[in-house]
Amino acid sequence: MGTMMEKKKTLRCPKCGSKKIVPEAAFITGYKYACEDCGYVGSLVIEEYNEDDQD
Ligand SMILES: [Zn+2]
Repeated sequence: MGTMMEKKKTLRCPKCGSKKIVPEAAFITGYKYACEDCGYVGSLVIEEYNEDDQD
């Protein structure tokens, strides 16, 4: 008991599926992201919420 249920948010590239998404710039409307793998740049990224994996 007492385990913190921590959800990690993972950003993924909508184009190539890479997780190497880095925030490029912040706008009033939100963030803009860039993919280090395929060079995709845009505000649309896939957000995944991964719960702590258990063995
Ligand atoms: Zn990509």
